[in-house]
Amino acid sequence: MSTPDSPASSNFIRTIINDDLSSGKRDRVVTRFPPEPNGYLHIGHAKSICLNFGLAAEYNGRCHLRFDDTNPTKEEDEYVESIKQDVSWLGFDWGEHLYFASDYFDQLYHWAIKLIKNGKAYVDSQSAEEMRANRGTLTEPGKESPYRERSVEENLDLFEKMKNGEFSDGSHILRAKIDMSSPNMNLRDPAMYRILHAHHHRTGDTWCIYPMYDFAHGQEDSIEGVTHSICTLEFEDHRPLYEWFIKELEIFAPQQIEFARLNLSYTVMSKRKLLQLVNDKYVAGWDDPRMPTVSGMRRRGYPAAAIRTFCERIGVGRSANWIDLSVLEDCVREELNESAFRRQAVFSPLKVTITNYDQVEMLEAPNHPQQPEAGNRMLPMSNELWIDRDDFMEDPPSPKKYFRLGPGREVRLRNSYIIKCDEYVKDENGDVVELKCSADLDTLGKNPQGRKVKGIIHWVSAQHAVSVPVRVYDRLFNQENPDKAENYLSALNPESLQEAVVLAEPSLLDAGPGETFQFERVGYFTVDSKDSRPGEPVFNRTVTLRDTWAKVK
Ligand code: ATP
Ligand code: MG
Repeated sequence: MSTPDSPASSNFIRTIINDDLSSGKRDRVVTRFPPEPNGYLHIGHAKSICLNFGLAAEYNGRCHLRFDDTNPTKEEDEYVESIKQDVSWLGFDWGEHLYFASDYFDQLYHWAIKLIKNGKAYVDSQSAEEMRANRGTLTEPGKESPYRERSVEENLDLFEKMKNGEFSDGSHILRAKIDMSSPNMNLRDPAMYRILHAHHHRTGDTWCIYPMYDFAHGQEDSIEGVTHSICTLEFEDHRPLYEWFIKELEIFAPQQIEFARLNLSYTVMSKRKLLQLVNDKYVAGWDDPRMPTVSGMRRRGYPAAAIRTFCERIGVGRSANWIDLSVLEDCVREELNESAFRRQAVFSPLKVTITNYDQVEMLEAPNHPQQPEAGNRMLPMSNELWIDRDDFMEDPPSPKKYFRLGPGREVRLRNSYIIKCDEYVKDENGDVVELKCSADLDTLGKNPQGRKVKGIIHWVSAQHAVSVPVRVYDRLFNQENPDKAENYLSALNPESLQEAVVLAEPSLLDAGPGETFQFERVGYFTVDSKDSRPGEPVFNRTVTLRDTWAKVK
């Protein structure tokens, strides 16, 4: 597992841009984020978004949001809307620069005609199998199609008929006439237009021919005046083709720059797999809090700022980029440690009776220990409390090693008194069911001199505690690289969701959707935005307080 790239190596794209600006090749920076609306955005897309929008902001340029909707069979408006929401939520603004590849279908069609007229494109009528067989291999050149020398007139006529719906899907295809023996397979007369009698989410049934991604992408960038077209490495071998189209069409030439896509451990990022997880109900939807989607992470409670920090921290390079999931989780912890208000909740309750205290008090407890300006909430205290079972041991190790409760031992109740365990009660099975403690009533908000009480534990007042449902989420996969498993589904973590009911301080009932709290000593929890009702929050565990997986491995 590599560590994040150093800041110096994260700068190779900046170096190119700086050179382009100082040499006068460019006088501005225009980038774009070009998703295909065939799924929800994931953390890999977030990296691309932060990079493209980030560079545009840094250079006072602009970044477009462009939907690459050239494949009508897989694209839907639901995806368009979710992508817009996710980009905005991540903190980026495309302003008026929202575009769709489908807006350029007319222009692309006319460019195809231009290439036909210049003898640079032809209609091929081989079957798909013949075309595949004649494509050649990496070591052998391809064979030219018998239709390659059709006249310009015949090509124009056939292409128009393709457009007019006179042919069935797959019967003809428009190809660029480049070089069937090129060592670069992408230059072996690649397809430009195919026949597809399919309804498009924006253009409806206007078209029954659609441009191939490779014939569309470079020209879309050109139309929009994109100066730096940043994409992932698998498009490196397509660059000569994009440049060929741009040159033949004599239009503005964007500069394509490739970087290594983000891979994250314990995560799958292929849209096909994410779609299968959703469709086959391994998760509760694209925004299931265990999904690596932007919407899933938002619902889980990851702050947008933490995702931006992560994308900055991992840098941008050209070599394969494996990042450990803990790097992302650490960014989330760092952000939430600053922003999340503190609350108390008990997961595994053990009763404590305070024998010398017979009242109810409302104690002032700070929302954030390092931020007095964040104010206080009122915390009810009474003579019957719940503490966590883990905070008591019948036969504890030395007080130098174990700071919690044991017979005769003292701890501080968070935001309340120091108590001492005088007695413990067992049931008929021999399990400890109650502690009887005395409180030192002189210790509220202060530590009298000479007292050495190291342990601080969380608690709730039994008569005031509220029960709240909590979903304890963990990693969706329990193998470092699920794609390596024979079937990635076998790497699913069966314990990625556990449901619990916890006893919490009453102020948590007022928590609103999306609000995140640190349950002291336990972890960060966010109110679910879908399943909560006013006064009835459901909490999702956002992240543990510390990296618990480091030990597991
Ligand atoms: P596909 O094209 O197979 O549907 P995709 O993940 O490439 O999937 P796109 O919608 O085409 O999805 O991606 C939009 C942009 O996000 C592209 O510019 C792509 O390079 C970038 N991107 C996608 N996945 C990652 C990743 N893991 N790391 C960085 N950038 C990514
Ligand atoms: Mg893609």
